[in-house]
Amino acid sequence: MTRMSPTAPLVQRSQEEPVRVILWGLGAMGRLMARMVLADPDLKLVGAVSRRVSESRAAGTDIAEVAGLNRPTGIAASPTLAAAVEKAGGAQVVLQATSSLARECAPELQACLEHDLDVVSIAEELAYPWAGNPKLADRLDEAAREAGHTILGTGVNPGFVLDTLIIVLTGVTGHVASVYARRVNDLSPFGPTVMRTQGVGLSVDQFREKVADGTVVGHIGFPESMHLIAKALGVRLTAIEQAREPIVSKVRRQTPHVLVEPGYVAGCRHTARGLVGGKVFIELEHPQQVRPEAEGVQTGDYIKIAGYPDIEIKTAPEIPGGIATAAIAVNMIKPVLEARPGLLTMLDLPIPRGSARRAAAVVADG
Ligand code: NAD
Repeated sequence: MTRMSPTAPLVQRSQEEPVRVILWGLGAMGRLMARMVLADPDLKLVGAVSRRVSESRAAGTDIAEVAGLNRPTGIAASPTLAAAVEKAGGAQVVLQATSSLARECAPELQACLEHDLDVVSIAEELAYPWAGNPKLADRLDEAAREAGHTILGTGVNPGFVLDTLIIVLTGVTGHVASVYARRVNDLSPFGPTVMRTQGVGLSVDQFREKVADGTVVGHIGFPESMHLIAKALGVRLTAIEQAREPIVSKVRRQTPHVLVEPGYVAGCRHTARGLVGGKVFIELEHPQQVRPEAEGVQTGDYIKIAGYPDIEIKTAPEIPGGIATAAIAVNMIKPVLEARPGLLTMLDLPIPRGSARRAAAVVADG
């Protein structure tokens, strides 16, 4: 397999050497990923691209300062990928944590390919980009194949709870009749962007207006998860129906980023149904709200597969979204390096697995 583009020399890695990793995006997820990479003897953090680093500051700014880590890393953050690669003296893979949308990620992915890098991205739309933008997905797939590199979209959801985990569970069934899953989670740790896109703090009328104008989107990833499940199970969805309803609070709820008065919106109950020939084949629910405990709501993940046999599993509380997203991205680095070139999905790669080799203290607190 040729893994060489005309623009940059390929950095060869022996099996014993740690994988050289560059982070792209040092927000909430990038910071968690930094901790996990720094704690892993099989990985080496060699650079990071951050929009918050200007050209003039870049030379001396330690990633720890930009990403709020507890101890210096000795690795400077860079304003561009080119600068990060040059400063690192080469790398093998980029962890991309900058955006949710495939079209926003595309130029960054292209740049990674031009620098001879594989990519693990947590952009929700990249979990199955053929769902929302098949032309762009085909273009990225072709570019990755030509460059001899692999791009993967993953994360907690989409990427795991409402797709990969379900698919793995169907592996022990003789027949699948339908799939139902529900992820109830707490939005309290998230910042202003998520509050806005979930409509938290709005009146019910404002919520409905903003759903109609596309400002309140709820969860990004239902079509991606549904197409992944359908593809895995060998059926074609004929339609996907989605609904976004306000979760109206009976009590006052507060987080560092939002105040919800009684009668106002605490979150979004986003549901989706995937149909095959007029019948519901996949039903997914994702009610997300701040301070669910204020009204006795228990977070958790629930999956029910109807078939032969029926299978039901439940985890409570929810699999924590932030840690899980950073972990699965870092855990997929090695499978991605070993995978065939192209734009791949979780269906194309071996089952995800964690590591017992990472230093627990560094993972936990940076
Ligand atoms: P965040 O807003 O905390 O951080 C994003 C960071 O990327 C910001 O610091 C921003 O300045 C930086 N950035 C954006 N574009 C950049 C660019 N071109 N170059 C350099 N830096 C850039 O968001 P987050 O919580 O870290 O999440 C990152 C993305 O991943 C979001 O879009 C989020 O929705 C998505 N996400 C997906 C999953 C999943 O399950 N698939 C889970 C969590 C987050």
